Amino acid sequence: MKTKDRAETGRLTEAIKKTLVALEAFNRFEGPDPAGRNRVVWTNMLDQPLPEKGVGLDQVLSELAGTVIGHGLRTGSPGFSGYVTTAPTTAAVAAQLAGMVAGSQRYCIQPFNLLEGIALRWLADLLAVPHDLQGVLVSGGAVANLIGLGAARQRTFERLGRDPSEHGLDSDKRWRVYASTEVHHVVRRAAAVLGMGRSAVAGIGVDDDFRMDVGQLRRALERDRSEGIFPVAIVATAGTINTGAIDPLEDMAELASEFETWFHVDGAYGLFGILDTRVAPLFRGLAAADSVVVDPHKWLAAPVGVGAAFVRDRELLVRAFSMGRAEYLTIRSNEEVLSPFDGLGDTYNELGVELSAPSRGAQVWAILKEIGVEGIRERIVRHNDFARQLAFRVEQDERLELLARPILSICCFRYAPSHVPEDRLDELNVEVARLLRAGGRYVPSTTVVNGRFAIRPCYINPRTTAADVDGLADEVRRIGDSLI
Ligand SMILES: *Cc1c(COP(=O)(O)O)cnc(C)c1O
Repeated sequence: MKTKDRAETGRLTEAIKKTLVALEAFNRFEGPDPAGRNRVVWTNMLDQPLPEKGVGLDQVLSELAGTVIGHGLRTGSPGFSGYVTTAPTTAAVAAQLAGMVAGSQRYCIQPFNLLEGIALRWLADLLAVPHDLQGVLVSGGAVANLIGLGAARQRTFERLGRDPSEHGLDSDKRWRVYASTEVHHVVRRAAAVLGMGRSAVAGIGVDDDFRMDVGQLRRALERDRSEGIFPVAIVATAGTINTGAIDPLEDMAELASEFETWFHVDGAYGLFGILDTRVAPLFRGLAAADSVVVDPHKWLAAPVGVGAAFVRDRELLVRAFSMGRAEYLTIRSNEEVLSPFDGLGDTYNELGVELSAPSRGAQVWAILKEIGVEGIRERIVRHNDFARQLAFRVEQDERLELLARPILSICCFRYAPSHVPEDRLDELNVEVARLLRAGGRYVPSTTVVNGRFAIRPCYINPRTTAADVDGLADEVRRIGDSLI
């Protein structure tokens, strides 16, 4: 029966079909990327005043298909290797769509609630995350780090006799979080949001392979102890965003135990590397982690918006992120379950910073169900191979220079012919990178390695082939040659 509401609530098949035709075309990534060059056109079409009268579903669909989708972001295109991001695979898209319609909240007694838990258990199985850790799916690595450090803060201050989530921090005390200089910036922000301050995060130096120098870590811990500064957490990065370096987890875990502090492992990108037997030994020490972060929306190619945090102690996590009492969320029922609304299911709202939240487990479940551990392992190994293939290609070419040996699937290099002086190379490579992006076929991102501007592909994209890896090197060489 038709309601009075003006929004269409039926015709889903028709609407999705129209959108899908445009999405399928988008996913062919044909021709040069039009989004940058056509910016004025689509901005003018979209940037209209708030409509007093609606235009109706059909007009919305045609603008979506005609103006929006075609100018979308091509992070899934085979030559895209920027940041640590890619576009989702098909099963994950279908699962997300299913969740939007049939699992519009992750709570209550229904499959989408169950799949949150199953996805977390499967992720833990896949990545050797200790099973006694409580998981929660969140929006990404930034929030997952906040959750892990929130638990670390809770435990530290409870031991000092204060509940920090109830009463805030004790201003007479001083505290520190230890991370390497290569740590992701979201860790500093998490410290800020948790009231500890960005400046509480000590940047411990790294060795030649960009791994935390544990000698320096020990000295920092000892110095702070003698000054009465409390250690809140030691943060290890398992796969840094600059070079893919994996901190010495085992040594850091030992120091965490010796100094009785929390051991947090940020493996948002790199933890999947544990599936590649060549690098798996670098993850030794993971079993001692009190909290672990991993991002399904990176190497698993889940749609952006799916990260995971695992924390040692569920009750501690609840104390860290409790809202206090929320009566309307409390269901009194000891009876047989007759309705999905007779319970909240597993109460993820108590384990993080979100209340209403979309289903995220279905996406992870769909991906793992589709290709299994074998399929994921094969992807990780292939991508780690790509970084090595590129490093080899770079070393064969006298005009290219390797800036960091690949550990996982990142390879940092630059265009550096011997006759170009060092002080001109940054500027030259900035221009190479700009022209690469303008070409649209091969789009890596860039970083700075030991003070040198680097071209930095990170291979996590399921659509990338070995030919795209060589193609990037060839293109850097061609653009560089044309510039000098
Ligand atoms: C990507 C990444 C983050 C941030 O995660 P988001 O999902 O972008 O919020 C944090 N730490 C590491 C090591 C990462 O690779």
